[in-house]
Amino acid sequence: MGGDEKKYVNEAFDTNWVAPLGPNVNGFEADISTFLTNQDEIYAAALTSGTAALHLALKMFGIGSGDVVMVQSFTFCGTTNPVSYQGAELVFIDSETDTWNMCPNALQEALEAYKHKSVKAIMPVHLYGMPAKMDEIKQIADEYNAPVVEDAAEALGSQYKNQCCGTFGEMAALSFNGNKIITTSGGGALVSKNKYYIDQARFLATQARDNAPHYQHSQIGYNYRMSNIVAGIGRGQMEALDVRVAQRRANNQRYREFFAGVDGVTFQTEPNADYFSNYWLTAILIEPSLTGGVSREDVRLALDAENIESRPLWKPMHMQPVYEGTKFFGSGVCEILFEQGLCLPSGSNLTEEEFERIFSALSMIFKN
Ligand SMILES: *Cc1c(COP(=O)(O)O)cnc(C)c1O
Repeated sequence: MGGDEKKYVNEAFDTNWVAPLGPNVNGFEADISTFLTNQDEIYAAALTSGTAALHLALKMFGIGSGDVVMVQSFTFCGTTNPVSYQGAELVFIDSETDTWNMCPNALQEALEAYKHKSVKAIMPVHLYGMPAKMDEIKQIADEYNAPVVEDAAEALGSQYKNQCCGTFGEMAALSFNGNKIITTSGGGALVSKNKYYIDQARFLATQARDNAPHYQHSQIGYNYRMSNIVAGIGRGQMEALDVRVAQRRANNQRYREFFAGVDGVTFQTEPNADYFSNYWLTAILIEPSLTGGVSREDVRLALDAENIESRPLWKPMHMQPVYEGTKFFGSGVCEILFEQGLCLPSGSNLTEEEFERIFSALSMIFKN
């Protein structure tokens, strides 16, 4: 926590705003808008989760059975589940090696193959905070008239060409789940330049109540609105966001210094000055043929033996049992990332002693 979270939460109790609306919800939405707005004003709807935000985005595009949504395969199920909730067909797109995110060439190939179908949305993800190649992706999406819905759940505070992640798609989702760079315990937001979408999202997120003195409904809604207590945590966290980004980037730098002399270990890295990652998690690839046989799993288990948690990268969605048989376009870059990749301990509050402990465990396995 940053400091002022309790102040905002206490305010909610003191004023009896214990409800899925209130001053903290409005204030948190305004804070998000201010943070993201560059040239065009950005609007935000605070919701119960990032998954809920993506679900509402698809709902507003009228996506349902018979429609196709193209999604980066290398991601968390929070990206793909909403497509399945809506009964649409998923088509998975490979990653490219620069950012590890959606490969524009594989996307082009998929769109060409599906040009006689109804491709209703394209969903790139900025994994571990690294911006995807948004210019290329948007240009291809425009060519085929498919709107981009951006999954920026891991990338609050990241930028591409000096513009915040979350402001490139028609709509974008943010997440404030417990593990994200800032958290409200659980929560998310839908953001867009288009105010209509955000007004509509707030309407759908509060059970789609028509404007009437009684309860009147002309559409099916959801109970997805963020509570005023949770939003109080969010307001305090927004004040700490810049510090969190600096801490995560400092972690990343420390790991780079540690691995500088080690063969066969490479990092997810900003390809050039157009990319600014919040480095939410520091992720590395371990190539056993260059490390003298040390594999990703060897490193994970060695850390685990010292009671240090690390984790393989996301298992691609086209490899998940639940999506068996789903179409995949690409050469399998994300399969190699999964096989060789590891997320290192990356908390904003890692102490010097903890780094010493991590480095000493890593030194034992990378002896030379
Ligand atoms: C966390 C996450 C989500 C979902 O967010 P929730 O708030 O946990 O529902 C979606 N996509 C990605 C890539 C995420 O990391």
